[in-house]
Formats: sequence, C-alpha cells, structure tokens
Amino acid sequence: MTRRNPPAAWAAVVVLLLAAAAALLAAPATLSAPAAPAVPAVPQGSAEATLEHLKALSQSIGPRAAGSAGDQRAIEYVAREFEALGYTVQRQSFPFHYFEEVQASALTVLGAAAERISPFTMLYSTSTPNAGIEAEVVAAGLGRREDFGGRQVEGKIALVERGQIFFSEKVANAASAGAVAVLIYNNQPGPPAVGTLAGPSRIPAVAISRDDGQSLLRRAGTGPVRARLVVRTISEQRTSFNVIGVKRGATLPGEVVVVGGHRDSVPVSPGANDNASGIAATLEAARLLARTPTARTLHFVAFGAEELGLYGSRFYAQNPPGTIVGMINMDMVGRGPLQVGNSNDDNRLVELAEQVARRLGLRVTRFKLRGSSSSDHASFESAGVPTAFIHTGDDPVIHTPNDTLERVDPALMAQAATLAAQLALEIAGPVR
Ligand SMILES: [Zn+2]
Repeated sequence: MTRRNPPAAWAAVVVLLLAAAAALLAAPATLSAPAAPAVPAVPQGSAEATLEHLKALSQSIGPRAAGSAGDQRAIEYVAREFEALGYTVQRQSFPFHYFEEVQASALTVLGAAAERISPFTMLYSTSTPNAGIEAEVVAAGLGRREDFGGRQVEGKIALVERGQIFFSEKVANAASAGAVAVLIYNNQPGPPAVGTLAGPSRIPAVAISRDDGQSLLRRAGTGPVRARLVVRTISEQRTSFNVIGVKRGATLPGEVVVVGGHRDSVPVSPGANDNASGIAATLEAARLLARTPTARTLHFVAFGAEELGLYGSRFYAQNPPGTIVGMINMDMVGRGPLQVGNSNDDNRLVELAEQVARRLGLRVTRFKLRGSSSSDHASFESAGVPTAFIHTGDDPVIHTPNDTLERVDPALMAQAATLAAQLALEIAGPVR
C-alpha cells in the first residue's frame, strides 16, 4: 500500500468543504430553521455486536462465493439484520459472470521424481481437456509482456511469479506468447493466493505456493521439466444481488450517502477479514444511525460479486438511485492500523474522514490504493463520486482458507463502524 501526505493547501480545502457542507445542509434547515443543527456524536460501535456478525458470516455461513448457496444465505442474513433495525430492504439484482470449479485442479510434475501439487484454480480459468494438458514448464518471470520476449513458450506451460501486474494480464501475456497454461506462484510464504482473471481466460491458469513455485524454478533451471495439469470449471452469466438498507432522507431524499462493502468471498476462503469484517462494520454503522433522522437518504449496501470484478458496486454506481453525494467503503477492517484513503486524487471525503476521526479520538493514517488490487469504492470513483475507503491494510492470508475469525480484532471493526457512521451523518446531515 502507498501512503502519501497531502500538501498543506488541503487544510484550507477542508475548511472550505465544511463551510460548503454546512451551507448545503443549512439550506433545508434554514428553510425551516435559521442555523444548521450541530452534528451530534454517534454512539460508540460495539465490538460484541460486530463479532456476532463476523461469526454468522465467516463461521456459520463460511465461504460466500458469488452465486453460491453460501452467498444466498449471507444475502438473507444481511436483509434480516437491516429489517430488524427498521431499514427498508431492497435487493438490487445485477448480471455477473458466474464461475465454479467442478473438481479440484491437479498438477503433476512428471519424471523419475513425479510429484503431485495441489494448485488453486484462478477465478474464471478456462478448463483443460478432460485428460489434462501435458507439456514442458518454462519460467517467465512476473509474466509481463517483456518477460516473454526471447523465451520459447509456444505449446508449453508458463511458470510466473505473483506481483506488479494483474493476474489477468499475466495470463493474457502468456496466451499471446503461445503458452498452453499458466502456473502463478505466490510471492508470499504460505498457501497459494487465488485471484480473479476478471473474465473467462483464453488458457487455463492456477495458483501454487511460493515453495512449490521455487522448487519448480530450481528444477527447470537444471533441465527440461514436464507436467500434467487438469482443470475443470464452469463459467457462465448469472444473477446476484446488492442488499440495500434504506433510510429515506427527511429534506433531501433525492441525495444519497452510500455506506457499505462487499459481502462475497472467494470460493476457498471463509473471508473473515476479507470481507465479513466490512459487512459486520456496515451493519453496526446502520445500527448506530438507526434512530437518527437525516436530511439526505442513507443507503447501507452489502455489494455482491466484488471478488470476481466489482460487479455489484459497478452496477449500483452505473444505475444510481439519485444523486450520490459520497461513498464510504469498508473492506478488510479487522487486522492492522486503521486507515482512510481511496484510489484517485479527489481527497475531499478522505480529509473529512480524518477530521471526524480526530474528533472521535481515533488514530488513522492515510493511504492510496494503487496497482494490482482494488475494491468497491473504485466503481464510485469512476462515476465521479467522492469516496473514503476505511481499511486496515494488506493481509497476506486473504483469499486463502486461513482468513479466519480468530485473526480479526472486533475492537477494530467497532472503530471502523463508529467512524463510518459519524462520517455518514456529517454528510447526510442531521435534522431537528
Ligand atoms: Zn475484499
């Protein structure tokens, strides 16, 4: 993660923004009352309450891949919780490209010392023929275009390292160079890290661990190595849902403040930090504001199909329910220092979030999410909406079976919920 400190000029912008916000919010109040009501402090988020949601999502339900039975149970769970808090629930359906691994992929390194490796199938990997693909394994660096220059990979299996560019780019580069399949080895210790190819791939692709990758690299360095890869998957168009808890604004109902995160996980992971923690904090923020009337409309959203390529949030942002004034995203808020940031140079909401955090006595640091990872705020940035991404930093075990409840700190989720609720109230505007 990149962390930048903004130039001093931003301080002036914050003051301007607050004045503008007060003026804006004053508008409806002044119509009815001279001075804008002061923004009341929201109650503190409860670590116990967030822990209950975390248990329900990451333990009782478990993996919640888009389109799966687990995700359907999570949709019902979130809808019930919003209803119980008094919010009107909307299930916004959207199309997405469904992906399923029909059987576990298998990789066998052939030769005298035949070795079986258990790879993870990349999301949207196409299938091999039933009998699999048997070919020589060739190392190709990070899988960038230049890594294939001068390398003979035609009809072979490319072995590339994770990092720097998107997984989908590595696989596309390998396919363009004539490779018949791709093995992506982790650049972190531990199990393989699964990621999305953001759409059906041209050639099969799997993830293997750093250890397996480096041992293959060593073997390929001493002479030709052959392997057989079997991948069986389904990849088709399906429908999923964003679950929205709505509280209609009292004076500016056509202006909407969005607070949320993604509900889904990757197929192999219970997704405790990524992202049951964000949904737990979203439900808790909804509880903190359940009894507080606001000028603008509040939408608390559990987005679907983020892991496959931001499908739910992109659909929502491209089909807005009104004028979206700001979006507060919570993704991975369970482990590490509390941070606020986003992925573009519009820092208005990030600045306000820092102001609010200071008022709440919360220590936060700023970050910019650039490069090979993304999250739902990016869909809103593409639509020109100011965003604040509340996050607790990178976590090496996300997207693996080890992203479990024990590793998540409920106090952090409660802090994220309090910050999100207070920030939402700041821009949604209290009414008398
Ligand atoms: Zn996530």
